[in-house]
Order: sequence, then C-alpha cells, then structure tokens
Amino acid sequence: MGLHDEVSHPFGDHVPAPGEATRVAEGVWWIRMPLPFALDHINLWLLEDGDGWTIVDTGYGNDATRALWERHFATTLGGRPVKKVVVTHYHPDHVGCAAFLVERTGAPFHMTAAEYLSAHAAHDDAAGFDREATLDLFARNGLDTSSIAQGARKANGYLRGVPAVPRSYRRMMHGERLAIGAREWRVITVFGHAPEQATLWCESLGVLISGDQVLPRITSNVGVWGSQPDSDPLALFLDSLGRYAELPGDALVLPSHDRVFRGLHPRIAQLHEHHAHRLERLLEGCERPITAYEAIPLLFKRALDEHQMRFAMGEAIAHLHWLEKRGKLVRSDDARGVRRFARA
Ligand SMILES: [Zn+2]
Repeated sequence: MGLHDEVSHPFGDHVPAPGEATRVAEGVWWIRMPLPFALDHINLWLLEDGDGWTIVDTGYGNDATRALWERHFATTLGGRPVKKVVVTHYHPDHVGCAAFLVERTGAPFHMTAAEYLSAHAAHDDAAGFDREATLDLFARNGLDTSSIAQGARKANGYLRGVPAVPRSYRRMMHGERLAIGAREWRVITVFGHAPEQATLWCESLGVLISGDQVLPRITSNVGVWGSQPDSDPLALFLDSLGRYAELPGDALVLPSHDRVFRGLHPRIAQLHEHHAHRLERLLEGCERPITAYEAIPLLFKRALDEHQMRFAMGEAIAHLHWLEKRGKLVRSDDARGVRRFARA
C-alpha cells in the first residue's frame, strides 16, 4: 500500500468554525457556512486573486449565511476587493448567496451555461424544474402522491435557499483556464449530480475543488428528475469521473461537504464500487416486475423522511435506468401508466 492508496485527511478533524478561515494551500482558504438540513454545512473556498479575492461557491441564501459573509468581509477578506464569484452548480447551498455577493461586491459571476440556466429554471418553476413535474414522474414510478395537497404540489422550495439568481454571467466551459492571481485553475466539468458542474484544478498547487462530485464520506446524489424523465445520470456521473484519471495521486481535494482530503483515486474507486453494489442488489431484486418505489428498500436500509424519500426516488430511478439502458432490465407500463422494471 502506497501513501495515497487510501483516503486521508491532512487537517485531521479540524474544520473552520463559523466566521473563521483555514488556509489549506498557498492562497487558498477554507470557510464553512451552515445549512438548515440534516447535512448541516457547506464548504466554500476563498482564493487570493492578486490584490483581491475569488469566491468559489456562496452558501444557502438565508440570513444566517449573509450575516457570516458580513463577518468575513470585515475580517477574512481584509477590505480587499472581490474580483470573481464562481459557482460550481445550481443547487441552493452553492448558488444561494450568489446574487447577494454579486450585488454587494460588483464582481463578475462565473458559472457554466447549463448550471446558470438551471438555476433560473428552478427559480422560475420553468422548463420542467417545478415540483409538479417531478411528482408526476415519481407517481409514474410507483410513489403514492395522492395525499400531497395541491398547494404543496406547486410549492417552490428552491426560493427558500435561492431568493434571486444573477441576471447575467460569464460562461465557464470545460478546459477553460481561469487566471486567479498568478495561478491558473482549469475548469473540469462533470455530470450526473448536476447538469454541468464546474470543478477546478490548479496544477501548480496540486489542488482540486471537487464541488459535490467527489465527497470523502457520503456519496453524491445522482437522480432522475421531472425535466429529464428518461435520463441516465448514473452513466454520466460514473463516466465523467474519468476526467480526473490524469490528476496526480497526491492531489489535495477540496469537497463541498465534510473534510479536505487526499486520496482522489481510491475515493473514486470506492464510488464505482458503491454503485456497482447497488446495481447488483437491484438486479437481484427485479426477479418480478417492480416499480422504483418498490426498489427503494433494496437500496436504502433505513427509514426515510419525506425529504429523503424524494432523493431516494430519484436515485432508484437512476439506477433502474442504468440497468435498463444496458439491456439488463426491461420496463413495462401498466394501463394506469405505472412503470415497472424486470430482469431481461
Ligand atoms: Zn449539489
């Protein structure tokens, strides 16, 4: 076993306290913001950018995060200007404070096209990003949604965490190099968790900002949602992890949740293994035709609350689609339009 055959945490159990910053590499600072969920925090990154700063990801768009940003403006940022606001993907914990920061600092806002447009679609309930489209998909996949009140079907939870989305942006693309201070950060886009997530690799520092694509302990949510009911996001997720294959084994990985780590390649191997196990269990369970809802106990052993059930449904459908698209399962729709999958 070499030094980097496993996941290790160079900062041990340390995590930055609210309002504090931890230096993780030359010119790279780690801060944390709270989240009002079971997953109770997000990591954000402050990059020294000449006489100013680049902010990577912004936190959930509520008063608690905005108050902590004000503390950082008064202390960590030391009165130096913010030159760029970069957001990895459109999920509320990442983009929630982007409009606030862009307005407060006047900095340009960097995002990929699919993430920028997805943020607007989710904010405006457009393009199949509304809750109803996903509930319809879940109903077709066996979830009983009849008890969900009409008001709740139409509610837009995204607005709670993303009160506004910037109205213009600078488009980041795969392979592009962002100049941040004297250093270059290469954009590596990855898929499956979000439509076109931007992750950032700095060769000269050996640092990867991995967003939600590679996390050290929990696995990223990979789900099918209402806007793309026939998608195969698990294939996109697993295949796009291949974009990290060329990165060195000792890369320092800065994930959006949990702790900074080394061991990118062993962690990616674990992710492949995790999904392979789930696919195997599903295939075993599809002896007779089952819905995605009926498949959930095969994938998740614990009881799920309503919020977790939503993610579990999306994940179950994603795994079923992966198997179906590779000819291992066949699907059939009954007279009511409910879809079942069985071994081919
Ligand atoms: Zn995310």
